[in-house]
Amino acid sequence: MMIESLSTRRGSLVNVQRLTLLIVDDEPAILQIISVALQDEYDILLARHPEDAIRILGTQPVHVLLVDQRMPRMTGVQLLEWAARHTPRIVRILMSGAAQLEDAVAAINEAQVSRFLLKPLRVELLRQTLRSATRELMLEQSHEQLLAELRRVNLELEQRVQDRTLELELANRQLQQRNILLQKMALTDVLTNLPNRRGTDRLARAELLRRARTQTPMVLGLIDIDHFKRVNSRYLHSGGDHLLIWLAQLLSSLIRPIDSIGRVGGEEFLLLAPEADDEAARTIGEWLRNAVAEASTSFNGEIIRITISLGLVVITGEAFIGFEAVRHQAALALREAKESGRNRCVVQSFRSDSLEYLPKDADFVLEHDPPPA
Ligand code: GH3
Ligand code: MG
Ligand code: MG
Repeated sequence: MMIESLSTRRGSLVNVQRLTLLIVDDEPAILQIISVALQDEYDILLARHPEDAIRILGTQPVHVLLVDQRMPRMTGVQLLEWAARHTPRIVRILMSGAAQLEDAVAAINEAQVSRFLLKPLRVELLRQTLRSATRELMLEQSHEQLLAELRRVNLELEQRVQDRTLELELANRQLQQRNILLQKMALTDVLTNLPNRRGTDRLARAELLRRARTQTPMVLGLIDIDHFKRVNSRYLHSGGDHLLIWLAQLLSSLIRPIDSIGRVGGEEFLLLAPEADDEAARTIGEWLRNAVAEASTSFNGEIIRITISLGLVVITGEAFIGFEAVRHQAALALREAKESGRNRCVVQSFRSDSLEYLPKDADFVLEHDPPPA
């Protein structure tokens, strides 16, 4: 469609536009003959002196300039030279007597004329010469117009590509942000806003790898609310939920900045405490147990108090130890805390390079991160 409209415009320029021809000659008879011969094809302007011609060229559009060489005060070449400088797009044609060959050389070199005609003029040759010269002008003009049009279309396209690129970049950024949010949501527990089971597992696995590299002791532990079923049955599920949120905030506020806590089951939490040895484990465990036992929250005007049991595992040793094995050990410690009366913290050691703690199922030790779901 673009090509069509361009070529239509191009065609119309060549066919429809009527050209203006300025004839300059000091002999009225010549002016008369030429204008009669060409008036059907051109709008004709006449000048008897170069000064008149310059005035006309300065005031109205002229397409073709047909100039006699021999004129008083100024030669045709000089006038055409002037025109070449001031109205360079005009078609310049010089008429001269047969003998004056040097005129033709000057006209071509200095005034850059497109045609040269010998006097006496033959009307048919004059017509032919003008036609071919003006056809060139028209083609040149339409070529330029076409180029300008193409340049415009190109700029427009570039702008559109730029706009589209910006749009895509914006959409991409939004997508990235949404993906980050989605990933965060996939790893976060909606009730407590703590890392959920998947999030916690990831953190634990990363921490266990880091510990194996740095070979510093660390603590991994399970925390479980004592008799949580009683809270649920007394204050209903909403009361239980309230308590879970409260406890999550309380535990988060109590741990060290380098520690983390996640919700890994209904009322079960997992504690990760890097760079903590046996003594630190006992301190942290007792600190949490005691703080929860002493704190309280109110729900629907009633004060609720709970206690927690903790099973903590202190991991030491040079070898890497898998998450499942440590969690299994923590579950055993937690069970011991429950069995010995609840509101207890049981701390156990786990040397990664001691076979004593290796479970019979070798998978516990050789496990790797599962592929992401
Ligand atoms: P124990 O001292 O032995 O841990 O006793 P418990 O009552 O806490 O034991 P158990 O683990 O059997 O009970 C946990 C209860 O937690 C059972 C379940 O109804 C409740 N629960 C699990 N998830 C949620 C939850 O998201 N919200 C609420 N309100 N309750 C939950
Ligand atoms: Mg419980
Ligand atoms: Mg439980």
